[in-house]
Amino acid sequence: MISVEAAQGIIRDHLPAPRVERIYFQAALHRVLAESLPATMDLPPFDRAAVDGYALRSADVPVVPVDLELIGEIRAGGVPPAALRGGEAAAITTGAPVPAGADAILMMEHSRVSPDGRKVSILRPIGAGQNIVPRSFEAAAGEAALPAGRLLGPAEIAVLATFGYTEIAVFRRPRVALLATGDELIEVQEVPEHNQIRNSNAYSLTAQLKSLGIEPDYLGIAADNPDDLRVKIAAGLDHDVMIVSGGASVGPYDLVKGAFGELGIRILFDRVAVRPGKPTIFGRKDDHLIFGLPGNPVSSFVSFENFVRPALGRMCGLAHPELMRVAGELEATMRQTPGRTAFLPAIACLGAGGWNIGPLPWKGSGDILGFSRANALVIFPADRCEMARGERVEALLFSDFILRRS
Ligand code: AMP
Ligand code: MG
Repeated sequence: MISVEAAQGIIRDHLPAPRVERIYFQAALHRVLAESLPATMDLPPFDRAAVDGYALRSADVPVVPVDLELIGEIRAGGVPPAALRGGEAAAITTGAPVPAGADAILMMEHSRVSPDGRKVSILRPIGAGQNIVPRSFEAAAGEAALPAGRLLGPAEIAVLATFGYTEIAVFRRPRVALLATGDELIEVQEVPEHNQIRNSNAYSLTAQLKSLGIEPDYLGIAADNPDDLRVKIAAGLDHDVMIVSGGASVGPYDLVKGAFGELGIRILFDRVAVRPGKPTIFGRKDDHLIFGLPGNPVSSFVSFENFVRPALGRMCGLAHPELMRVAGELEATMRQTPGRTAFLPAIACLGAGGWNIGPLPWKGSGDILGFSRANALVIFPADRCEMARGERVEALLFSDFILRRS
């Protein structure tokens, strides 16, 4: 049995290089940029007024108040302004180009216009450069704007729009196939007989994949027999990644590993010192990665987070796809038999003194209902048998933690 870290290292060593595709910029939210993009123009492209007010020459305002001749109005998007001469001011709107000769913009609020509209009284002192954003202050044409590897969020989408990048190279999201296994499984819309349960792992795994922006191809349920398993697993092997749920353990009807072998999948590990999630299989065939996850619903969830998310996230180009790790104060004493690193359901909460981590009651790896109250996994190191209340411990925050905060 290998440690969690060793298993994660093996997976990382076998990741194919991320692949690139070109997409429309509006489809790029939460994708990772695969090329470096320079500024295509100066930003701002001209000396830009930062406020609504009056463009003037600061030398004309040695004292206040002083009256200047109002020569007109410069609007954002309007005709290019004429140069300003001594003693003159021009009304100007935010975002409009500053006229030649002017070196400052007085805020509207610090002025008073004469009743005939021909003069403006300057009521506050003003210095050169005030309220003007000089040409190329934010970027000069040709300068680096967005580096390769940058996650594209709403602000980056605005940058793409600003520079006219309508089509960009991003890392391709891997294509994922998903197969459930188990003679006892029926689909959600069916009513179970006494010996049946509804397949829930296919749906929790689909939801976890969606949090990475991946829509898997669901291949249904395979029976616990070698032929059905072989045929249905083979059907998913044209995908970048295949996830098989259940049948990964050592019972007489856990036949997934055998089927992997028959299909020429090289098994790189098949057991990890982790609780829950010990029977987790990882294999590879050419550039295709194959995960065999344990069938218990909580184990399936936790194994996905520990092993599948980091792999798929890196394939999407993310530098740090793992769940966020925080350290905080344990709210109740926990005990375990040492030997495996445990990832147990908890509620993490950021208080005034830092993170508080409250373990939830643990009814085992089948208890998805109890687990559904968690927003984090508290980490119980393999070499420890007790973690005392008040101790500093680590936890992983769920990917939707921000949305689940109470
Ligand atoms: P297995 O890993 O196939 O030995 O299954 C372990 C436990 O998880 C058994 O109680 C199964 O009934 C249950 N299980 C397996 N697959 C699923 C699934 N897709 N949805 C819900 N429970 C499952
Ligand atoms: Mg099974």
